[in-house]
Amino acid sequence: MSNIREIRNFIDGAYVDGAAPHFDDIDPATGELIGRVHAADRAQVDMAVQAAKRALTGPWGSMSVEQRSQLLVALADGVNKRFDEFLAAEIADTGKPKSLASHIDIPRGAENFKVFAEMLKAYPSEAFQQDTPDGKGAVNYSIRKPRGVIGVICPWNLPLLLMTWKVGPALACGNTVVVKPSEETPATAALLGEVMNDVGIPKGVYNVVHGFGPDAAGQFLTEHPDVDGITFTGETRTGEAIMSAAAQGVRPVSMELGGKNAGLIFADCDIEKAFEGTMRSVFANCGQVCLSTERLYVERSIFDQFVEGLADRARKLTPGDPYGDGTSLGPLISREHRDKVLSYYDKAKSEGADIICGGGIPEVPDGYGDGCWIEPTIWTGLSENAAPVREEIFGPCAHITPFDDEEEAVAMANDTQYGLATAIWTENLSRAHRVGSAVDVGITWVNSWFLRDLRTPFGGSGRSGIGREGGQHAFEFYSETRNICIKL
Ligand code: NAD
Repeated sequence: MSNIREIRNFIDGAYVDGAAPHFDDIDPATGELIGRVHAADRAQVDMAVQAAKRALTGPWGSMSVEQRSQLLVALADGVNKRFDEFLAAEIADTGKPKSLASHIDIPRGAENFKVFAEMLKAYPSEAFQQDTPDGKGAVNYSIRKPRGVIGVICPWNLPLLLMTWKVGPALACGNTVVVKPSEETPATAALLGEVMNDVGIPKGVYNVVHGFGPDAAGQFLTEHPDVDGITFTGETRTGEAIMSAAAQGVRPVSMELGGKNAGLIFADCDIEKAFEGTMRSVFANCGQVCLSTERLYVERSIFDQFVEGLADRARKLTPGDPYGDGTSLGPLISREHRDKVLSYYDKAKSEGADIICGGGIPEVPDGYGDGCWIEPTIWTGLSENAAPVREEIFGPCAHITPFDDEEEAVAMANDTQYGLATAIWTENLSRAHRVGSAVDVGITWVNSWFLRDLRTPFGGSGRSGIGREGGQHAFEFYSETRNICIKL
C-alpha cells in the first residue's frame, strides 16, 4: 500500500484534501491501483474559482508582459528540470510507452509554455486614423485584456500536453485558471502545482480540482458563474453539455472535440513514407489521438499492396512494459474504454467486415494480464454507413476502402459530421494543393501526420469543435479586444 500516491487538489497555491469521496487511480498497463484521488466537492470548486478571481487583481494582474513571459519560460524550464518525474507520472496514469511519452507528451507539455511566452511579446494591436466632420480626426487603437477566470477541462489521452496547450496561452494573456484534469489522468496536473510554486507564479493563478464530469467537479466548474470562459478538449457529446452550461451568463467557449479523420493514399505516393506515416496515424498512442485516421481510402491500383503492407507492420506492434525498449504499443486508458472499443470490433464482425489483422485481446507478458490491452486491427469490406466507419472509436483500428479517382476520394473523406484533420499521401504537388483545400477539415497534412508548428491554427469544423487554438489564434480566445477612440 505504501506505493499508493495521494493526488490532491491544488487551490490557492496549496495542496488540499478532497471533500468529495476519493476515487481510485489505476495503471492501465497492469490494472493495479496506483493512487487515491482527492475529489473536490462544489464548495471546493468554489474555493478554487474564488482564489483564481482574487489572483486576477493581485501581483499577477499588475505584471508586465515581460515579467509574465519570463515566468512562462521558467515554467517550461521547471517542467524540464523534473522531466523524469513528469514522465513517470504520465506513464503510470496512461501506460503509454516511454518512447512516446518522452518524445511527445512531456517535451511538448513544457514547450507549450515557451512558445506562448515568445508569441506574447510579439503580439500586435491594430490602429486606425479616422476622418471626422471637423477635420481634426480621431485615432482608434485596440488593447487586449485577459478574460478573467478560465475553466480548463481536459481529456486523458495526452494529459500534460493538452492541458498546458490551454494553460500556456491563458496565463500568457494574464488570465487565471481552474483546471479539471480527466479523472483517468490526474497526476501531472497536480504535479505542475509544485512547479508553479517553485518558479513564483502567484498563488491562485493556477488551481486544480479533481473529479468526474457530470454532477461532479467538471460540471460544478462549468456552471460556476464566476468562470469567465471555458476551454474544453474531449468528446463531442461532452462539449454539447458544456456549451449548455456556458450559455448561462453568455460565457465564451473553445471546443476541441472528436474526429473521424480520413487518410487518403494515392497511387502516386511514396509508399514507404505512406506506410510509416499511416502506422503512426492509426496506431500511435494506441489510436487514442483525436487526429488519428480511423478511415483510410486507398487508390484501387495499390489497394491490396497497401492493406497487406499495413497489416504486416501492425502485427509487429508489441505490447508490454512501457519502459521496455521493444514496446511499441500501449494499452487503452481503462477497462470501460476497452469495452467500448471491443464493441466496435464486434460490430465490424457482425456487419461482415474482412478482419485483416487483430480484432481481439492480445497475449501480453507476465504481469500485464490485467491491463487494458487490445489488438491493433484493420478491416476492409464494410459499407461507408457501418458504425465502425462512421463513429469515432478512439482505438488502434482503421477501416480501409478503395477509391477510383480523386473526386471520389474527397467525397468519401468529406462524408462525415466531423472535420478535424486529414492526411494525404501523394507526390503530385498540384493534387496536394487541390485535395488539401477540398477536404472539410481544420488541419490537412500532406506526406506527414501530427507535424506541429505551435504557431499555426489548430481546431476542427463541424462536430469537431469551435474556434482555433495555437499561436495568435489562442490569444483571440484567451483575451478580449477593446477599442479606444480618441477624438483629436
Ligand atoms: P470526455 O469528453 O469523456 O472527457 C473530457 C473531460 O470532460 C474530462 O475531464 C471529464 O471529466 C469532463 N467532463 C465530462 N462530462 C462533463 C460535464 N458534463 N461537464 C464538465 N466536464 C465534463 O473525453 P475523453 O474521453 O477524456 O477524451 C477523448 C475524447 O477527446 C475523444 O472524443 C477525442 O477525439 C477528444 N479529443 C479531442 C482533441 C482535439 O484537439 N480536438 C484532442 C484530444 C482528444
